[in-house]
Amino acid sequence: MRKPVIAGNWKMFKTSGEAASFVEKLRPLVAHSDHCEVVVAPPFTALRAAADAARGSNIRIAAQDMHWAKEGAHTGDISAAMLEDAGATLVILGHSERRHDHGETDEEVNHKLKAALAAGLGPVVCVGETLAEREAGETRSVLERQFRQGFAALTAADFSRIIIAYEPVWAIGTGRTATPEMAEESHRFIRELAGAGFGRTEAAAVRILYGGSVKPENIAGLMTEEDIDGALVGGASLQVESFAAIVNYKRATTR
Ligand code: PEP
Repeated sequence: MRKPVIAGNWKMFKTSGEAASFVEKLRPLVAHSDHCEVVVAPPFTALRAAADAARGSNIRIAAQDMHWAKEGAHTGDISAAMLEDAGATLVILGHSERRHDHGETDEEVNHKLKAALAAGLGPVVCVGETLAEREAGETRSVLERQFRQGFAALTAADFSRIIIAYEPVWAIGTGRTATPEMAEESHRFIRELAGAGFGRTEAAAVRILYGGSVKPENIAGLMTEEDIDGALVGGASLQVESFAAIVNYKRATTR
């Protein structure tokens, strides 16, 4: 039985004060949400404030990126140890905005992934096709490439510590959500890749989140699909009420 994860990616929004006040308001709204893991991913500068505000609660803190080196001459970058020092226990890697804005490659995602695992952080690795790739019928080949290169040279034990987020790029921040059926097709394919790469047990256990314009109105439908194990939420995670409503989707469904 895979425990769902509902994670909010705040991107480049919220100061430390705003992050702390968000987490304080969220705490009572999700205190009894035992059906899923609750995660928020503030920007680097607000990690400590969010982690302090979340102390003693069921809310976990994720960073949005990291460098693979332990330390060094990498101006503007942040290491895994620094993230842990700031209170993060998870890290989002390979988000399409990092791939697009910073030219991040699958090979770099793989370096970051190995470094995160070595440091004891829980990686949430994003994969997903662009609109042009989907329209060209390349969704599967893109996912396969991202999976093979991004997860290269990992052991099954490493893989068992990873959460995957399927985020079709055309659905991120556009209001255009993949239908539950479209998302399920890609999730099932990713699980097949996991089986071929790491074994049936690992494939059955890995949590695969959907990301792309998830809202309180569409989360329950997505969560009825067998291979959808939660959501990575951008825009709708910025308001406490809508994020809490997504976390608490279970009250409106039978899953
Ligand atoms: C995201 O940033 O990972 C995301 C899915 O954003 P949105 O929910 O706004 O589409």
